[in-house]
Amino acid sequence: YPLVVAVDGPAGSGKSSVSKEVARRLGYGFLDTGAAYRALAWHAEACGVDTDDAASVISCVSSFEYRIGTDPAGYAVQVGDVDVTTAIRDPDITAVVSRVARVPEVRTHLIELFRSIIADERRPGIVVEGRDITTVVAPDAPVRILLTASEAVRIARRSAELVDTAPEHTGEQLRRRDEADAKVVDFMTAAEGVTTVDSTELDFEQTVDAVIGV
Ligand code: C5P
Repeated sequence: YPLVVAVDGPAGSGKSSVSKEVARRLGYGFLDTGAAYRALAWHAEACGVDTDDAASVISCVSSFEYRIGTDPAGYAVQVGDVDVTTAIRDPDITAVVSRVARVPEVRTHLIELFRSIIADERRPGIVVEGRDITTVVAPDAPVRILLTASEAVRIARRSAELVDTAPEHTGEQLRRRDEADAKVVDFMTAAEGVTTVDSTELDFEQTVDAVIGV
């Protein structure tokens, strides 16, 4: 069984890029759980279901064929035969993903999927990032981290990524998503035994070093 490094945090905290780099340096696998919720939102849209209707979303879960590798260097996300790596980052998906993620049946299904991906990992360890990894998916992980940053810094980082979108819009969307997500799992406060890494005043390299240092 691989050594699990569990990383949780809010949107724009740098979780994904930092976790991926940590995995690369340690020779571990990498699992971005948010990508699965995004892929399911993409699948629901492709099926034409109303993402506001939990029953319709649930009906869509059985036909969700999610394929993901754990190589941090070649990370690609597939639903069936379709490569959705880029499509799941679309603002339309970001806008609806929380509605899909709040459905309990969706969570149960994906949590099971994550645990089987972790169990199948053949590298010595795996860095798993999301919102409920330290508390629900892998509460027994030997390394558990909450990666935070001030809201202003998270919005600024996300705005720099989304060059085509006005920063006010990005800020508004990020706040709204965190608010919706926090009703489902608390990822703003560290659970007992979880180490907080605050990246507000750290650059990317320093954050990677801080996480590896935990
Ligand atoms: O991390 P990312 O922003 O890609 O996550 C997309 C969405 O997936 C989050 O806004 C949240 O609704 C959901 N999510 C979740 N639990 C996780 C990871 C992501 O509910 N462990």
